[in-house]
Amino acid sequence: MPLVVTPQSPHRRPSHPLPAAPPAARAVRNRAPLQPGAFALLPLGAIRPQGWLRRQLEIQARGLTGHLDEIWPDVGPNSGWLGGTGESWERGPYYLDGLLPLAYLLQDDALIAKANKYVEWTLTHQAASGALGPPTNTDWWPAMVMLKVLTQYADATGDPRVVPALTKYFTYHLNEAGQRPLHQWAVYRWADEVLSIVWLYNRTGDPRLLTLARTLHNQGADWGRHFTSFEFDHKTSTVDLALMPGDKEFSDRAMRAHGVNTSMGLKTSAVWSQISGDQADRDAVVQALAVLDKFHGQPNGMFTADEHYAGRDPSEGTELCAVVEAMFSLEQALAVRGGVELADRLERISYNALPATLSPDMWAHQYDQQANQVLCSLRNRRWVSNGPESNLFGLEPNFGCCTANLHQGWPKLVASLWMGTPDLGLAAVAYGPSDVRARVGRGIGVTIEERTDYPFRQDIELVIKPDVPYAFPLQLRIPAWAANATVTLNGVAVEGVTPGTFLKLQRTWRPGDRIALHFPMTPAVTAWYRDGVSIDRGPLVFALPIGEDWRKVTQGLKHPATAPAADWEIYPTTPWNYGLLAEPGSGTGLKVDEESVGETPFNATSPAVSIHVTGRKVPEWQLEDGSAGTLPQSPVISAEPDEALTLVPYGSARLRVTVFPRVAGNGK
Ligand SMILES: [Zn+2]
Repeated sequence: MPLVVTPQSPHRRPSHPLPAAPPAARAVRNRAPLQPGAFALLPLGAIRPQGWLRRQLEIQARGLTGHLDEIWPDVGPNSGWLGGTGESWERGPYYLDGLLPLAYLLQDDALIAKANKYVEWTLTHQAASGALGPPTNTDWWPAMVMLKVLTQYADATGDPRVVPALTKYFTYHLNEAGQRPLHQWAVYRWADEVLSIVWLYNRTGDPRLLTLARTLHNQGADWGRHFTSFEFDHKTSTVDLALMPGDKEFSDRAMRAHGVNTSMGLKTSAVWSQISGDQADRDAVVQALAVLDKFHGQPNGMFTADEHYAGRDPSEGTELCAVVEAMFSLEQALAVRGGVELADRLERISYNALPATLSPDMWAHQYDQQANQVLCSLRNRRWVSNGPESNLFGLEPNFGCCTANLHQGWPKLVASLWMGTPDLGLAAVAYGPSDVRARVGRGIGVTIEERTDYPFRQDIELVIKPDVPYAFPLQLRIPAWAANATVTLNGVAVEGVTPGTFLKLQRTWRPGDRIALHFPMTPAVTAWYRDGVSIDRGPLVFALPIGEDWRKVTQGLKHPATAPAADWEIYPTTPWNYGLLAEPGSGTGLKVDEESVGETPFNATSPAVSIHVTGRKVPEWQLEDGSAGTLPQSPVISAEPDEALTLVPYGSARLRVTVFPRVAGNGK
């Protein structure tokens, strides 16, 4: 199959509307003997953010992502990935893996120039051996990230140098693999290299690539077995994992109990199934999510790991790297396997866990977020193995991996909202305001405009604009939570709308055809740790926002921020220790208010949607070691007065209570 990508003009300015008929790209589907995917990812640039999602990406561009190289030496001018003597391991590639897609999604010339500097150095400094990156690096792992950067870059630009560079690199890796097997992090992250191997195989058909993929499988960790015979049904400890201060090498057990490795490992079996052809590999991600939910699950869609598995208490932490890697794993697993449950999960993490752990202006981030996060301050907490800076909002709290890696979250979500289908149509996999332009069927260009304030609203309008009237299949995800969902096509109700399935519409589409999706977002009361309760509405989780007093930290940090970045503690200014008068089940009676989605979509002062509930203080629930104390077993008795509480989207509240004790009575 020839390389088919969209040539993008680097000169288009941000915020321009789409021209009438720009070039359209086709999803590249798997070449035999690779197993066909349920979907196929569209090349970077085929999907453009609009509405609040574009504003979010523009905030990101004005924030840390657009400026990190100016203030953080590890990705600055002395980076090993620019030929310097500075950081020469994962941080440069991590940064690029988010900066580059952000730049091309926004068509922002300045950001494109920034990203392309590192790409250019990498492509023009490939060693004669085929090695990529700083010559001092001998670890396979960081190049795995840069390979993902290069494939996105090739998709966005059509640069013909990428295919030969990758071919040369993989030949080199195949030749070296016997004497220099995967080591440490690379053992657990091998599927990330297989993604780029599959990308290249679909373009060249070189059989040596599949040999290399099998070699990596043989040398890499068995994530399938990790999840099917899961050993970590408890909060881990440094003793349990044999972790010693200052360790540079970790045991297999510690590596498998590691949050970021686990998030990356979620996709591994699905990625490998393209080569193994094994249905069990393909479906393994579903069981993996179930086991993580059972022992470490949180309402934001994630599991705790700070930085190793930490159990279900909502005061335990989840690392930002684990959030963005879980999103990426779900995007990749979705392309291979399909499945509404994976897309529902992707939205849950993206629209809750991701914004919650970044400051509204995206200049500061946390290392660890807590579902019940009532105080962010510099002190030791009951983390498994993280340090005293871990829940600060800052430039490099605790450790700089998240500083470098956070950037991929939003851009890759946007790039995965739409995918190609095996029958040459398109699928709306996840929802958010966007346009997609792609080739369908025998190469006809089609643009679909998705107009919505989802996930803050229940309605989505799709305007279909094929270049000429043309028949192709369109698949629309009906979220599992969307009971009584309705779909109309040009005002006429569509039959067979079933939550938890993809609705397939096969017809001749004409320019201006309109589809209206209505996904009723009835509040739901869900049960969590120690029979506590949480409130959902559609893909959003709701939390009690606590008044926030942001105080700059200038002392006692390992790596204090350079202006204009800063490090922050957040102190609560309002009480947090409430229980809810709510029983698990439908929250039909709960009152919902919708306000406009602001310039900053996730902010606590003017939330786009709020839910009104009744609660009572639970006086015995107090701070323990700087965090909300262990959640009292529900039901709890409280003689305190009823109070009207207003909950906001989890992602809007940087101090919050998300899992509440359930108040059963007043004890009288
Ligand atoms: Zn990290």
